[in-house]
Amino acid sequence: MRFGIRWKMTVLFAAGFFIMAAAGLLLLRQSLIPSFTQLEQGSARSDAARMIASIDAELGYLDTLVLDWANWNDLYEYVQSPNNRFVDANLVPESLRNSSLSLVLIADTRGRIIRQDAIDERYARPIPIPLTGRDGEYILRLMLAQGPSSGCGFANTAVGLMALCWRPILRSDFTGPSVGKLVMGRLLSETRWNSLRQRTDLNFIFRNTPSPATIDERWPLPNHPGYIATHDIDVHYTQRGLIIDYGLEDLAGKHLGCLQLVLERTIYLQGQNVLKRSAILLALVMAAAVGLLIIAMKYWFVDPVRRLEAELATIRLDQHLDKRLGNHGQDEVGHLAEEINGLLRVIEMQVEQLEQLSSTDSLTALANRRAFDTRIDEELARHRRNRGPMALMLIDIDFFKQYNDHYGHPAGDHVLRRLAGVLNGAVNRQTDHVSRLGGEEFAVLLPQTDATGAEKVAARLQRNLAEQAITHAYGLSDHHLTISIGIAVMTDMTESAESLISRADHALYQAKANGRNRYELG
Ligand code: GH3
Ligand code: MG
Ligand code: MG
Repeated sequence: MRFGIRWKMTVLFAAGFFIMAAAGLLLLRQSLIPSFTQLEQGSARSDAARMIASIDAELGYLDTLVLDWANWNDLYEYVQSPNNRFVDANLVPESLRNSSLSLVLIADTRGRIIRQDAIDERYARPIPIPLTGRDGEYILRLMLAQGPSSGCGFANTAVGLMALCWRPILRSDFTGPSVGKLVMGRLLSETRWNSLRQRTDLNFIFRNTPSPATIDERWPLPNHPGYIATHDIDVHYTQRGLIIDYGLEDLAGKHLGCLQLVLERTIYLQGQNVLKRSAILLALVMAAAVGLLIIAMKYWFVDPVRRLEAELATIRLDQHLDKRLGNHGQDEVGHLAEEINGLLRVIEMQVEQLEQLSSTDSLTALANRRAFDTRIDEELARHRRNRGPMALMLIDIDFFKQYNDHYGHPAGDHVLRRLAGVLNGAVNRQTDHVSRLGGEEFAVLLPQTDATGAEKVAARLQRNLAEQAITHAYGLSDHHLTISIGIAVMTDMTESAESLISRADHALYQAKANGRNRYELG
């Protein structure tokens, strides 16, 4: 198959569209991906803020409870004179559980523990105080230190991660002097985490294992929480999604673990999907556009050009230069066809001129030997069909050599031209054909003419020439130029051209032999 215009244009269109589509997609990607990332980050930041706020609210709630209890005359009095009435009314496991408390600890101003209650919140069963070991005792000392200190925070206890708040014990009207410290704790049990997850509608966990070493991004906290330490959010981009870590420290400043939130990258994936769909759509549009262009090219350009090509090929192969291309419409191909037709006209004219030139004698403008040969064959063929006589006269100037020798060649040429005029003037019929066979020999073909007719023409020829009275120093008749004529008449329809010419030639020879300036019938 030829790599024609159609395929070249197909490749060109496809390449052009591909580049356009690729550029479009790249632009789309460059404008879409950042906005999707921004959306994703915005949503992730607010989720992270909600997660942190929910755990901060735990401390807030506990602090309100501590504030309530620590400024209460009943407790104030109890610290001064511990009694069972207060314990039975407020510090039984059920009342702790009702307030979602895991630990209540009362100490005097010197940090000595007056009463401590800890429960397993699931069964409301008393358990030993969970602040044990080096870290637990350190935190206990921190909370019970002398002075009016108060605070909130987390600690790792024997039963798990616990939120703790403490305040100095005062009267209900917030007056002192402080008689001790009240510490309350709430265990962050699985139930608590579940309720926090439900409240925030976020599936976060607390991990006490170290967070991944690599941090992809650090985001500042959008809202400052009230109780827990404020620092940046650690962000990791993984296969699972966006992992958000917020580190928690205990009251002594020791790292406890991380609140971890894993967010699916739905927005980002949506962006990718939009891009993918756009790419597919672009590819389809591209294919359709290329297809349309190729079809248009085929119908408007390739097919018309092929038709033109086929018509031109027929003209070339048949060598019918008189043929013209058909109507090819008003577009460029149509104009091209018109131009080609113009060119064909020029070629036809030139060929005609060439044919004319190649069949014309340049000196006398009569038909030449070549034209005579063609014509005699045509006439013979016609006579064989029509059955009629045909005469051929061969004419030769008498003593023309002497004429040339005496008057010079240019004068001889002039005589040849004059004789041509005489010959043309002596024949009347349209079909009569006068030609110069070469030198000073001429032929006159007289179709549908018998011997009598031919003799008449021969006599007329000689008479007309005599009237011209061309002086010839060595001429026969009063020193005038004369001609001898040999006539042959075809009656046998099977006779060949050669035979007819030969008979006429023989008659001419006879005319010369018989004294010149005469005609003889062969
Ligand atoms: P004849 O009566 O026997 O025919 O004698 P002739 O001298 O005419 O003899 P021939 O026919 O053999 O002569 C041919 C001469 O015609 C020779 C040449 O001088 C002359 N001739 C032939 N062609 C041309 C031509 O183109 N121009 C001129 N000027 N003369 C020509
Ligand atoms: Mg001669
Ligand atoms: Mg001669």
